[in-house]
Amino acid sequence: MADRPITPWAMVYERLHAHFGAQDWWPAQSPFEVMVGAILTQNTAWRNVERAIGALRAADALSVFAILGMAEADLAQLIRPAGYFRVKAKRLRALCAFLAAQGVAADPGQLGRGQDPAALRQNLLVVHGVGEETADAILLYALDAAVPVVDAYTRRIGERLALLPEKASYREIQSAIAAEIPAEAAVLNELHALLVQLGKEYCRPRPRCELCPLRSLCPYAYP
Ligand code: SF4
Repeated sequence: MADRPITPWAMVYERLHAHFGAQDWWPAQSPFEVMVGAILTQNTAWRNVERAIGALRAADALSVFAILGMAEADLAQLIRPAGYFRVKAKRLRALCAFLAAQGVAADPGQLGRGQDPAALRQNLLVVHGVGEETADAILLYALDAAVPVVDAYTRRIGERLALLPEKASYREIQSAIAAEIPAEAAVLNELHALLVQLGKEYCRPRPRCELCPLRSLCPYAYP
């Protein structure tokens, strides 16, 4: 983000990038695997998602056709390590049915090609089990759309840094970031990954401010 005026969120990006380095998200081998991961990661740790995706891969079931062609109960057993497996099996099948209806079952990375990301977002939000965070993760990490992803880490860190209005909605947080960060998928991809890393290592519920690369910017650390 060189040669741009430095905004508070851009400063956060620069500091985190200097501290942690490139995160190279999303850890997946295809856009469809990103989409599957975005559903499976709801309310669970990533290591559990990896086990579930590994089971899908081992069963040769990591495709829209395979998931739609198997019984929901069998799918649920395969993704059991991700938790809430019956709920998530239903959600995965709903997503796959959506992809098939959009004509991209064979190549889900083509979803919404040439379509306005805002319109595609609205369509995704209608799919059973796809909320704002999941829709935006699919847009950014599977489809390279320049859309900020907001999660619990983003909210916690933004609130502690006093960069968000009190009790901000998802859309308000997204707008606050979009106003200060270039609308480039690569930058937004990296920002979200860096915030997750910060949230895991330092900005935990009980924060480790003394070690945090943002401490000199943070009113929570220096009230
Ligand atoms: S200084 Fe503390 S509260 Fe502020 S971002 Fe870092 S870990 Fe979180």
